[in-house]
Amino acid sequence: TAKQRGKGNWVRYTPGMDRPVFADAQLGGDLRRALDAGEFRLLYQPIVRLADRRLIGVEALVRWHHPERGLVPPLAFIPAAERTGLIVPLGRFVLRETCRQAAAWLAEFGTGALQKASPNVSVRQLHDPDFVDDVRAALADSGLPPDRLVLELTESAVLRGPRVSQVLHEVHGLGVRLALDDFGTGESSLSLLRAFPVAMVKLDKSFVDGIELGEPGTVETDARQAVARAVGHLADALRLETVAEGIENEDQVRQLRRLGYTVGQGYHLGRPMEAAQITALLAEQAKAAAAA
Ligand code: C2E
Ligand code: MG
Ligand code: MG
Ligand code: MG
Repeated sequence: TAKQRGKGNWVRYTPGMDRPVFADAQLGGDLRRALDAGEFRLLYQPIVRLADRRLIGVEALVRWHHPERGLVPPLAFIPAAERTGLIVPLGRFVLRETCRQAAAWLAEFGTGALQKASPNVSVRQLHDPDFVDDVRAALADSGLPPDRLVLELTESAVLRGPRVSQVLHEVHGLGVRLALDDFGTGESSLSLLRAFPVAMVKLDKSFVDGIELGEPGTVETDARQAVARAVGHLADALRLETVAEGIENEDQVRQLRRLGYTVGQGYHLGRPMEAAQITALLAEQAKAAAAA
């Protein structure tokens, strides 16, 4: 309630405020029903090699096909799912479905086709006592080799909680890889990269935005590129893979390649899409390889 938020933090009443689009209580029940009803679906966004646009991985992004509200984006329900704890069963679904789909692609197109599949994982899931068992079961049931799975975690997720470190080391012990998502935006601590078994960093979109602007060699351009360059050097030194996120045009590709990035993701390289469209891309790639 407003009172619990403390003195001076009274919330102004606005009409309809008592019926927000997704009140936690309502959403909790709704999410549970939606999970059982199979209303959550995954889209997959290509992760590509910048040099030749080859599809080398996919990020799984959840969508809610709500019977009345239509397609609901993750930012409209993930925070509430985290608060209510429903992210645990939802995250389990995302993990299992990603593994199942990735294993199917692997079976159809072989080991050379798609290197990795990346679901997002919330910190709340890491605190669930069954998390490591869930990961183990998702791999065993799907038959996906562990090194094909990359769990995307935000920096703040990794920072919080003492148990998290142990859980991440256990997951790493299964052979699964870990990526720091939105890298550079969190409560970044470089020591994180040493303390946790991280294999990959994803340069946040905010550092890709505008990286192509400005006259070459000017101070302004250098400033825009500084973070991307620094993250690239850091990754090299620590032997981490990098993915540049949110690439929206060819000039950004060119700049990022110049700064040493070899792998990227973004609308310019492929929107989040249905699994069937990824299958079609993989089939096209296989055909091109056979013809070459
Ligand atoms: P994220 O993990 O950083 O995912 C990238 C987001 O950026 C996706 O938004 C993607 O559609 C969007 N994006 C990719 N390329 C571009 C681009 O070139 N331009 C722009 N403007 N956007 C681009 P989406 O699917 O709406 O997901 C938003 C966030 O929701 C994700 O950010 C992730 O933090 C969270 N999320 C999505 N799916 C899941 C999930 O299954 N579990 C959890 N815990 N979080 C999820
Ligand atoms: Mg992500
Ligand atoms: Mg990201
Ligand atoms: Mg992001």
